Amino acid sequence: MIISMKLHSTQAEVAAVCERIEHFGYKIHTIEGAERVVIAVIGVGDVTPCLESLEAMPQVEKAVRITAPYKFVSKEYKKGRTRIQVNGLEIGGDEFIVMAGPCSVESEKQIMESAEAVAAAGANILRGGAFKPRTSPYDFQGMAEEGLKLLRKAREATGLAIVTEVMSDADVPLVAEYADILQIGARNMQNFSLLKSLGKAGRPILLKRGLSSTIKELLMSAEYIVAHGNKDVMLCERGIRTFETVTRNTCDIVAVPVLHEMTHLPVILDPSHATGKRSLVAALSRAAVAIGADGLIVEIHPCPEKAVSDGAQSLHIPDFEKMMRSLQPYVELWKQARMTEAPVAV
Ligand code: PEP
Ligand code: MN
Repeated sequence: MIISMKLHSTQAEVAAVCERIEHFGYKIHTIEGAERVVIAVIGVGDVTPCLESLEAMPQVEKAVRITAPYKFVSKEYKKGRTRIQVNGLEIGGDEFIVMAGPCSVESEKQIMESAEAVAAAGANILRGGAFKPRTSPYDFQGMAEEGLKLLRKAREATGLAIVTEVMSDADVPLVAEYADILQIGARNMQNFSLLKSLGKAGRPILLKRGLSSTIKELLMSAEYIVAHGNKDVMLCERGIRTFETVTRNTCDIVAVPVLHEMTHLPVILDPSHATGKRSLVAALSRAAVAIGADGLIVEIHPCPEKAVSDGAQSLHIPDFEKMMRSLQPYVELWKQARMTEAPVAV
């Protein structure tokens, strides 16, 4: 952290700031310019309490953080990619991962047909919500444990791993019993008691970006999970709220390489919630592969017209198959790019 003192600060004022820094256990290195004193703060650990205390001192002009406030999820902490093992798959590794399935689990027939379509199209993981975060309390809220049981059945029938949402800390043990990956939805990205409880969930986490959250806030939420004991976290860009209304959300597609620059965690893109329109899903999915995402999470439905949630953005099964085929050349290039990545010393 670098502290810039106000112009012409007195020696006593500089000394008071230095004393405050030392009180937090850091070392100091002062640089005396012609008009201004700059203080370099040296030490390890989270500087936030010290920074906030210094910002409150009237003689301090500016306090600037040099290292990121997140630690475990940063590239400084770990140079190589985090590779997450799930049911024989590696997320964040050398394979492009596709998760697909309906927004909500609705019935045995619906989830079985979806699961078979996901497996037949060559996708890797089945999605389906049993606990649904709905804007209206009068909308379908999910089948809860009944839905989880159906997901288990689909897993047994197809061998596909399951990703499903958990909305409260009380439900984490139950959902973890059935799911291979726990999804934290956009609305819960900053539910800190839920994030803390995921530390001991024993399952990888798919953390979706909040509706209006910054990339740094997403990383801070991931930091909660890792700091509480679970290092298997993947991040998901699912669009953010902007002034644009043509699409349901605005896909911040550059968040994918931005996150890859900032963190070692895998980055998944959700083209369904990002657009809200099935006609846009395939194009955005190809863009996600091209920009280097680690995988996709896509909504499909055997009969989207009858879906209880997110029908307009859910692909019909033949269109999903077509999309999977259209991704192939992009995935080949994606693999070449991964193979030729400079090896990192870890
Ligand atoms: C979902 O995946 O169905 C969902 C509710 O997503 P999000 O949390 O991104 O809105
Ligand atoms: Mn949905």
